Amino acid sequence: MAILVTGGAGYIGSHTVVELQNAGYEVVVLDNLSNASEKSLQRVEQITGKPVTFYKADILDKAAMEDIFSKESIDSVIHFAGLKAVGESVQKPWEYYNNNITGTLTLIQVMREHNVKNIIFSSSATVYGTPKQVPVTEETPKGECTNPYGWTKSMLEQILQDIQKADPEWNVILLRYFNPIGAHKSGLIGENPSGIPNNLMPYITQVAVGKREELGVFGNDYPTPDGTCIRDYVHVVDLAIGHVKALKRIEEKAGFGIYNLGTGKGSSVLDIVNNFQEATGVPIPYSIKERRAGDIPENYANAEKAYRELGWKAQYGIKEMCEDSWRWQSQNPDGYGE
Ligand code: NAD
Ligand code: UDP
Repeated sequence: MAILVTGGAGYIGSHTVVELQNAGYEVVVLDNLSNASEKSLQRVEQITGKPVTFYKADILDKAAMEDIFSKESIDSVIHFAGLKAVGESVQKPWEYYNNNITGTLTLIQVMREHNVKNIIFSSSATVYGTPKQVPVTEETPKGECTNPYGWTKSMLEQILQDIQKADPEWNVILLRYFNPIGAHKSGLIGENPSGIPNNLMPYITQVAVGKREELGVFGNDYPTPDGTCIRDYVHVVDLAIGHVKALKRIEEKAGFGIYNLGTGKGSSVLDIVNNFQEATGVPIPYSIKERRAGDIPENYANAEKAYRELGWKAQYGIKEMCEDSWRWQSQNPDGYGE
């Protein structure tokens, strides 16, 4: 039996494929390569020494997915495939709703037809909107999202929950990621944004490697100790291991479950800049810019439920996240070179 990893050539997906293979799972990857390079999977094979079965396919393409489900003996799906750029989603809402929601509905339809009823879904801390209190637990009410991307996550959570409710044979686990950064220790795989990075860590590493002049820090007048926003940064390898733990839970017939995957610690933008400089010795010039629309001052996880029920706890701290992000970027200044 195999695990189908949609979006498995991407940043979190490729790291998860490594951990799945290390844990002895057979893995089939599906990706349309709209935001990834197939080279990431060659690197995965280099790391694990095991072959990855890969299909270049789109989750919107029902026939292509039926073909995969017919050929492969799929037991569970880990569903990463989706568009994820917050700003772009405001410009292109239809594309985001179509790709993420219609794509997922199509995937679920094919799963049903093949009697595959186990799914782990990549959700996000963004579903909490602007939380009234931090840290957020899974019981913290979901909030108003500030962009279509966030809404796709919030809506897909509801859709998957309703599907499990209607048919309890389904096992559905929603993983709400906080801010994944870092890279595999080998420096062979990592985050590979196309164009100007939207997220903090890839921007910092591109400044460090000389591709960008300076970091713009979006606002220093937030109600936080140093005035910059606070997030819960979590090492991507920890996150990947979280998926293996969630899969074990599914094997024990999880039913429905929601888990925060974060460290439980908040770090400000300037904390990350300072930690990066200390960990790598590379200076990061920055200047303070206007606030970025839609940013919330503070969000970090209470991740105790994931510890209690999945036995998952983040192992890596900010220093290792910075070191590992830098190893990947410095060894691969142009990402996968495409
Ligand atoms: P990523 O862009 O690197 O990976 C997503 C992958 O999905 C890409 O390889 C892309 O080519 C593929 N894809 C997109 N649309 C597809 C389609 N229609 N058919 C087939 N493949 C398709 O992003 P990531 O950072 O690895 O994120 C993985 C998942 O986790 C996404 O669903 C994302 O929304 C979610 N998530 C990410 C973060 C983050 O900060 N990186 C935080 C919370 C949630
Ligand atoms: N940020 C920044 N400069 C950048 C990118 C991000 O100051 O070039 C800040 C951003 O305002 C936020 C934090 O870094 O406070 C994390 O941003 P990111 O986009 O990585 O994650 P998210 O906002 O989705 O949590």
